[in-house]
Amino acid sequence: MIRFLIKDTAKHVGEKLKVSGWVNVRRAHGKILFVDLRDISGVLQLVFVPSNKEAYEKAEKIRPEWVIEVRGQIVKRPENMINSKIETGQVEMSVDELNVLSESETMPLSIETDGYDIGEEVRMKYRYLDLRRERLKNNLIARYKLVKFIRDFLGNEDFIEIETPILTKSTPEGARDYIVPARLNPGTFYALPQSPQQYKQLFMVAGLEKYYQIPRCFRDEDPRGDRQPEFTQLDLEMSFVEREDVMELTERMFISLVKTLYPNKKIQEIPFPRITYKDAMEKYKSDRPDIRKNKDNKDLLAFCWVIDFPFFEKTDEGGWTFTHNPFSAAKPEFREDLLNKKNIEKILTSQYDIVLNGSEIGGGSIRNHTAEALEKVFEIMGYKKERIQQNFGHMLEAFKYGAPPHGGIAPGIDRLISILQNEPNIREVIAFPKTGDGRDFMMNAPSEVDKKQLEELHIKIAKKTKK
Ligand code: ASP
Repeated sequence: MIRFLIKDTAKHVGEKLKVSGWVNVRRAHGKILFVDLRDISGVLQLVFVPSNKEAYEKAEKIRPEWVIEVRGQIVKRPENMINSKIETGQVEMSVDELNVLSESETMPLSIETDGYDIGEEVRMKYRYLDLRRERLKNNLIARYKLVKFIRDFLGNEDFIEIETPILTKSTPEGARDYIVPARLNPGTFYALPQSPQQYKQLFMVAGLEKYYQIPRCFRDEDPRGDRQPEFTQLDLEMSFVEREDVMELTERMFISLVKTLYPNKKIQEIPFPRITYKDAMEKYKSDRPDIRKNKDNKDLLAFCWVIDFPFFEKTDEGGWTFTHNPFSAAKPEFREDLLNKKNIEKILTSQYDIVLNGSEIGGGSIRNHTAEALEKVFEIMGYKKERIQQNFGHMLEAFKYGAPPHGGIAPGIDRLISILQNEPNIREVIAFPKTGDGRDFMMNAPSEVDKKQLEELHIKIAKKTKK
């Protein structure tokens, strides 16, 4: 007998079916036993009567979260037992046969509630149980739908999805790198990508024109609120574009995504308002302004763009550093100044950030596609010729062979989906997140490794200092 998903059972009244899943609850009504059985698709009420002795006796023993398989007839519920809130609320199964597939110990955490009040440590340690919770299951499904929507949308726009390496070289995105020792070249290290920035630009040099990927990015930052050491972006890049083209595509994609997947939500303003960095700081004292007209309305989405950021800012040592991305081009009217390294404090970048309800959900820019302009950026930051060659020689070299003008953006998937799902933080929309201080309580990572592993890598731990 094939297994039916619970959501499909209501269409088979009168038929004998097999369903399987987890025991939600069991309760007795006089002599009759009721069990709510749960699978990925829904909940079905099972009914056991004493006249069917074998099944009834087994049902008396089952406990919450046991995994069972049952066969029986789908029947209409009596009028007074109809539950209009669930898809299978009109029916129940009158069970003939029950098999226990696996038992469960008492759960270390309750999964019936939304779980917000349960301690993070226990939720993370037993994340595979925490994920049985309806809310988290729905978040993962919503996340899948969002990513699928993006893939379909960009596919229709002639983008192609291409993977880039995880073992790579340090990229200057402003954060600390995670590094990986290279056993075959003792004393050297790979870096995990902070983003596929350089690779995606090299795809443009390769003539691939419209690239996207949904990559994992890694940044070794100090714990701060809602950050994760690894997070997911929608990374995209296009050739022969101006700022307007990338913003138009991004905006159209977000509008279509909301209308398709979240029809109950309202976008406050279309086209998305554009605010200069200067105005944002003056008016909202923030470069990610929350422009919602009504902050109590959980279905209101106030997107806006922040543009015209300064390209450089002063470092503590009195030099210059980039504010967003060293690969960005200056706005067209400042390109001469950049090439001449003049009026540095006044140069504005082509960077655009997209903000949703006060959270930065992505950023991008038009890039320098000539070696000369890119080199100037590093010179302004005080990098010596050798350092520029050593770190970015490959980019400068690539730009010598016919690089098209190009630009892109990288919206953060975790943040976006958490806002759309009305979740207070991104850990609620990531299957296996880490704690605020970067630990995985379930796998117990990070952890020490064997002495032999370290030896192979030619690594010696100098001294362990406890925080
Ligand atoms: N690579 C940039 C980032 O991760 C985004 C971009 O400019 O495309 O922030």
